Amino acid sequence: MNKTVLITGAAGFLGSHLCDRFLKEGYNVIGMDNFITGDKKNLEHLNSNSKFSFIKHDVTEFIKIDIDLDYILHFASPASPIDYLKIPIQTLKVGSLGTHNLLGLAKAKKARLLIASTSEIYGDPLVHPQTEDYYGNVNTIGPRGVYDEAKRFQESITMAYHRFHGLETRIVRIFNTYGPRMRLNDGRVIPAFMGQALRGEDLTIFGDGSQTRSFCYVDDQVEGIYRLLLSDYAYPVNIGNPHEISIKDFAEEIIKLTGTTQKVIYKDLPVNDPMQRQPDITLAKKILNWEPKVNREEGMKITFNYFKNLSETELYKSEHKDFSNYNSK
Ligand code: NAD
Ligand code: UDP
Repeated sequence: MNKTVLITGAAGFLGSHLCDRFLKEGYNVIGMDNFITGDKKNLEHLNSNSKFSFIKHDVTEFIKIDIDLDYILHFASPASPIDYLKIPIQTLKVGSLGTHNLLGLAKAKKARLLIASTSEIYGDPLVHPQTEDYYGNVNTIGPRGVYDEAKRFQESITMAYHRFHGLETRIVRIFNTYGPRMRLNDGRVIPAFMGQALRGEDLTIFGDGSQTRSFCYVDDQVEGIYRLLLSDYAYPVNIGNPHEISIKDFAEEIIKLTGTTQKVIYKDLPVNDPMQRQPDITLAKKILNWEPKVNREEGMKITFNYFKNLSETELYKSEHKDFSNYNSK
């Protein structure tokens, strides 16, 4: 195997797992990241791997790579609501300018480009579960619009390069994915609840907890992405775990798993927080022969063990913040 893949967002949660997977398959992997939400630690174990190299770079700036590339996976982007509410302009830029740069690079290298889209392009969905042919319900000017619209633009420009330039492109619509290497302070519900349990704090439910999510373990997600990249399907494909749960019931599961004696407290629901989310994965099953294998109980145990083994410094540096100020209209 002498193929080379460039992975942007490599120091992040999903990007670092993708680097591992492609190295395991025998590819040469170039990781790229500017560390805005990622962490060098996620790639430390690859330091002595001769098939791995790393370029620190902001993908919204022109990208220069001297060697041939076979595949590009564009995963750079803030991904947690708190991150993209804190850095809205960077979020818009990485989804638009960054994607444009990567499309240009893929065209110059005659490489296949896979972009990381998201269930957020469906917004607060009126169709349930979400199928790929649903156009979505996004508030363009709401606080989450910076992420949702950047990702929607990303899909549009990717399809334009596919149609106009004949570029080989793939679009994965990722639904809530979790696992080791998530940042304990990224504000997403799993690190938030697990961090709170480990620090002996109350678990914060936003709203009344009736909103639902469907959580996919990272290994399943990576398998789906890998299969999609190697498939010949250019249209968007949902990859996620359809097993849906309300946030209230999920908090109960976390309490059981962690053994915390803390209680649940309620805070305001962030503006435009989607009320329901579940992927319809019929398409992925059909064209990729893919479906998730890791159930929530198993995946959550592995994830909790990862957080439990972080140092005290990590645990407290990542003290859960009250981000209700970011929920401004
Ligand atoms: P993450 O924050 O852990 O990783 C994102 C990485 O991108 C970070 O390392 C960050 O430093 C890097 N980055 C951001 N802007 C950059 C820039 N301009 N130049 C270079 N690097 C930059 O988030 P994640 O959960 O790993 O998400 C990765 C991708 O998957 C994102 O595109 C996200 O939108 C998408 N996604 C993730 C989920 C999920 O549940 N994890 C769901 C839907 C979509
Ligand atoms: N949430 C919560 N408490 C927290 C963090 C998140 O109740 O401490 C809720 C949030 O409002 C949302 C769900 O959990 O309804 C999932 O949030 P997350 O940020 O993980 O991802 P989203 O799917 O909203 O992008």
